[in-house]
Amino acid sequence: MTFEELGLEPNTIKAISEMGYTAPTPIQEQAIGLVLMGRDVMGIAQTGTGKTASYTLPMIDILSNGRARARMPRSLILAPTRELAAQVSENFEQYGKYHKLSMALLIGGESFGDQERALDRGVDVLIATPGRMMDLFERGRILLSDVRILVIDEADRMLDMGFIPDVEKIIGWLPPLRQTLLFSATMAPEIKRLADKFLSNPKTVSVAPPASPAELVAQSMVVVNDRDKRETLRSLIKSEEVANAFIFCNRKRDVAVLYRSLDRHGFSAGQLHGDMPQTQRTETLDAFRKGEIKLLVCSDVAARGLDIADVSHVFNFDVPSHAEDYVHRIGRTGRAGRNGRALTIATPADGRYVAAIQKLIGKPIPPMALEGVEAPTLEEGESDRRGGRRGGRSRGGKPTETKPARPAEPKVEKTVVAEAKPETRPEEKAERKPERKTERRTESKPPRGGRRGRSPLPADEVGEMTHADDVLAFGDHMPGFLLRDPLAK
Ligand code: AMP
Repeated sequence: MTFEELGLEPNTIKAISEMGYTAPTPIQEQAIGLVLMGRDVMGIAQTGTGKTASYTLPMIDILSNGRARARMPRSLILAPTRELAAQVSENFEQYGKYHKLSMALLIGGESFGDQERALDRGVDVLIATPGRMMDLFERGRILLSDVRILVIDEADRMLDMGFIPDVEKIIGWLPPLRQTLLFSATMAPEIKRLADKFLSNPKTVSVAPPASPAELVAQSMVVVNDRDKRETLRSLIKSEEVANAFIFCNRKRDVAVLYRSLDRHGFSAGQLHGDMPQTQRTETLDAFRKGEIKLLVCSDVAARGLDIADVSHVFNFDVPSHAEDYVHRIGRTGRAGRNGRALTIATPADGRYVAAIQKLIGKPIPPMALEGVEAPTLEEGESDRRGGRRGGRSRGGKPTETKPARPAEPKVEKTVVAEAKPETRPEEKAERKPERKTERRTESKPPRGGRRGRSPLPADEVGEMTHADDVLAFGDHMPGFLLRDPLAK
């Protein structure tokens, strides 16, 4: 499914595609259409599933018609923590960059004056934590009679933090004729009660918690042109604190080429692929384990079954064609309770493979941009990576869109951390809990034992003419005539 099919406006789609989003996440597929239709929605989804965009994107479209009056917000989003509220407002800014929507963020620990001035100018979207919202309402600084859309985000956390009475009070100040969206990671009885009380004929949508393989792996993806891949890899290796890393290529031939290239550039590298004699493989692995080699360029089959406890990084030099291989690859790091990092280098032609991976892991791979490297966008639909579209053209003749490089600052996951300011209310104290600082990296679940119904091949079978999922496949055993690049000079 595409964002267009969900009925979003072209300007909204333009903004999200510039952020590198190629396809809606499952919660977005389910919720966006309903919100656009004006339905009340009960969304069961965790952080990391793309749930914020599932309500912010349609809200931007809905609110793009009409204007806000002074101190009379047109929509209200209640979030339990300042960090979440700040993230939501950041998303609004990014997704709404081609709309003229005004927004105010009311969070504890910030000056009342600025927030009041923002309200006085009139806001389309008001994003608030319950404590500060109540303060400003009780001081008569906000009129809530124009609120047509209410979002209660992370309701289960509101419950944990004791905010539900405040939330109920705030809802009591809103007009009864409104659209209400309630998001929660779980459907606890108290959340159900809240939904029954405040939602009108709601549609419940739910997605499984992100089924990510490695709980402690922070994932990122960078999209570059084919010709920039090696340079990108080198700069990532230099910019990250790489203790040691697996670098995955899709094809055996590329393992050898990339290994030689890294070696020539003075990196401490080795290679591992199915054609190497067992003794050489064992020696290479020993050297990697002992730290004599820092980088191990390998193919999927060669790396399967390897259990090396402290690998700091996994680089996907190529996006794997089988989404499940992504899960196996990144599971090479973040083992034994250590933190790991997985960086994927994608090219525009990898769009559908990236979409398949994101669908499998149930969450998007956060995009990052590299300073000085052109950042094209991922293409959707069919693509043929083997042909290597160096001319920037797909097989179907669709030109590769190249957008100006996104702003510098490689970004993993931005999480706003509350500053410690004098506290005034108990709620605000709770809002300052620094829990969210790390959770976005760690919320997903551990691997669920590999491929369903198939057993991973043991390491000593790596030389066979089989793909890891027991089908004869290209990858490690691509016939030579298919490897010739028809576009190569
Ligand atoms: P959330 O679950 O709302 O906290 O979102 C998790 C992360 O996914 C955020 O960094 C979003 O920027 C990102 N994101 C949301 N939707 C998409 C999408 N359709 N494709 C790629 N990334 C997304």
